Amino acid sequence: MEKMEDIRGLAEELIDEKEVLQLSRELIRIPSVSQHEHKASKHVHRVLDKWGLSPRFVPVEGYGPNVVSEIGQRNAPSVVLNGHIDTVEVMRGWKHDPFGAKVEKGMLYGLGSLDMKCGLAALMVAYRALAESGVPKGARVVLQAVTGEEDTGAGTRKLIAKGGFRKAKGVIVGEGFGALSGISIGRRGGSYFEIEVIGRAAHGAEPERGINAISDAAGIVQALDRMKMRWARDMTGDDFLPLREDQTVLKISGGSGTLSVPESCAVKIVRCTIPGAKHDVEAEIKAAIRRLRLKSRVKVGLLRNQKDLYRPFVTDLESDLVKTASKWLRVYGRGRPALVIGRSEADDNQIAHETGVPVVCFGPGELGELARYHQAEEAIHVDQLGPSAKAYFATALDLVR
Ligand SMILES: [Zn+2]
Repeated sequence: MEKMEDIRGLAEELIDEKEVLQLSRELIRIPSVSQHEHKASKHVHRVLDKWGLSPRFVPVEGYGPNVVSEIGQRNAPSVVLNGHIDTVEVMRGWKHDPFGAKVEKGMLYGLGSLDMKCGLAALMVAYRALAESGVPKGARVVLQAVTGEEDTGAGTRKLIAKGGFRKAKGVIVGEGFGALSGISIGRRGGSYFEIEVIGRAAHGAEPERGINAISDAAGIVQALDRMKMRWARDMTGDDFLPLREDQTVLKISGGSGTLSVPESCAVKIVRCTIPGAKHDVEAEIKAAIRRLRLKSRVKVGLLRNQKDLYRPFVTDLESDLVKTASKWLRVYGRGRPALVIGRSEADDNQIAHETGVPVVCFGPGELGELARYHQAEEAIHVDQLGPSAKAYFATALDLVR
């Protein structure tokens, strides 16, 4: 109890809530669409440098550089704070300036306000407070501001390859769904499939002589949309609803536009997979297509590139990381936090699978109608920014002390 009071006192003393808002606004004002993060990376570096935290750039091919900083004893076991600098592109429908960072009725508007510049600002302020409070001997805290997350996760992938998670005891990703009322302790995966439909060309004025690959692909798309998705037993998604699989058709391409029956067509789909599921998704898809008895030949293939195969994971509920984060969200969040599974794949999947280090994800965010992630008019309630920074600070300090 004494330790808890002590950490709480330090959080109050060292974290200025207004500063989190100020830094969030600065970050929103610098556009940083994936692959164009350079200016924002520089700003993160400049701020950490001004705070005396010796940041360094880690180049990421095709993207702005990551910014990394470390405090504590070299090579000691660490707690890693990870957040991404980049955003998706500006979409239609904005009424506010997406780079204006205007605060209106307690909400901060801007591209990346939810996803995840406020989370990154809160991590940075927490990290500075950790440096000021002093990390005990034999421990280390690492801050990673990464690029390319909204694209293929190149920034975090680079840090994994360079050993940035070696000796890590736990990773806190600062992306918050549910506004400090939940912790993502795992994520669904994403398995991407390409379905190739091969028909037979013929003169377009004599379609009966060919096999139309596009028409058959259209039947396949409908059959895919009708497939039954399974529910995960005892798991809740980060929308706070029961978790299940999803399947979405992402792309269809084929035909030449000349007066010929199209002989080929390709369909790309994603299956959002649930942790612990044992069934064979590829076999299910093949069976659904076989039942259509098409004349075209159909090939189904799982895409195995790193960016096409994110495996689902769940962090051990009994780990120090989950227990400590839960403890501190009871203080700074909204009571006992729900332990949820992120519906979308993210950097967490890579970290969990490539390094085996426990990962949790929480922070400032919204739920329901206001959860405008990757949508126009993205905005966030600013009253969670300070408490988020305190929750990061307290969780990390508690883990290293
Ligand atoms: Zn994000």
